[in-house]
Amino acid sequence: MKILDGTWVAEALKKDIVRDVDRWSREFGRKPRMAAIVVGDDPASHSYVKSKEKDCRQVGMESILYKLSSTISQEGLIECVKSINEDAGVDGLIVQLPLPEHLNEQEVIEAIDPNKDVDGFHPINMGRMMIGLPSFVAATPAGIVDLLDYYHIPLQGKECVIIGRSNIVGKPLANLLSRKGYRGDCTVTLCHSRTVDLPEVTRRADILIAAIGQPLLIKADWVKEGAVVVDVGINRVEDNRTKTGYKLVGDVDFDEVAPRCSYITPVPGGVGPMTRVSLLKNTMQAAKLRDMPLF
Ligand code: NAD
Repeated sequence: MKILDGTWVAEALKKDIVRDVDRWSREFGRKPRMAAIVVGDDPASHSYVKSKEKDCRQVGMESILYKLSSTISQEGLIECVKSINEDAGVDGLIVQLPLPEHLNEQEVIEAIDPNKDVDGFHPINMGRMMIGLPSFVAATPAGIVDLLDYYHIPLQGKECVIIGRSNIVGKPLANLLSRKGYRGDCTVTLCHSRTVDLPEVTRRADILIAAIGQPLLIKADWVKEGAVVVDVGINRVEDNRTKTGYKLVGDVDFDEVAPRCSYITPVPGGVGPMTRVSLLKNTMQAAKLRDMPLF
């Protein structure tokens, strides 16, 4: 069994981004810049945005943070998005989700200029990705495909089972892996909470990807001998041996499942760092597209 080491691969990919950022900055006389909007005081959202800003600094990009009050109106938030759309000094824009309940997330996503939509959540980017046109691809699915590619995991004709049908992971990933050609060509089954006899389906998988949000759900007897297992899940579980009183685990019971696999991602250190580096790649792509927008 080999570990798919997302931390290591992400660091390797960052070296290419640093070179790109440097070249682009010399040509355009400024650094690529990502804007992030965070609404309210949710500590998890602030911590995610802080990591994204740190990642930008690490590769030589700039970031600009818009901290908005949890009581902001839908109109106020859309106004902020539109003003960033118009700002020629910003290349990529993300709105940290989830938003407070009174705000309509979909409407906010659709207000983002698709040329700056480095999260790849805008329906134009989702749709173009689905039919194989140039687009921004959501960071987690893009990072997973990069990780499999980095380890030269064969995809063509493989049975790939994805569990979880969210718009940010499962659905776009199913589309990417079933696309025709290089980094695609899998036979994909997309499972969800209404799938009947999940273990029976997952046992068919050459490549099993879990994006569920249920700690340690996937057990050894759900996995075919020699399968590649990618664990997207990030779950906090109580652990009184740690300082914080909790630890992070995936959707896969790593200790049980790992011995059966050819490759497996750890949690943390697997998909998470790949997601973060994909956002940087998308921001670099957005900067490069300034003079020839996709849309
Ligand atoms: P979500 O929470 O929006 O949806 C969960 C999906 O799992 C749904 O489609 C649901 O049908 C399915 N599901 C739930 N219980 C199930 C069950 N018992 N059997 C089969 N299917 C079941 O999903 P999400 O936003 O894609 O997040 C999934 C997990 O991935 C979470 O733990 C999240 O924190 C994590 N995540 C990690 C990263 C990363 O970078 N590592 C990125 C995004 C999400």
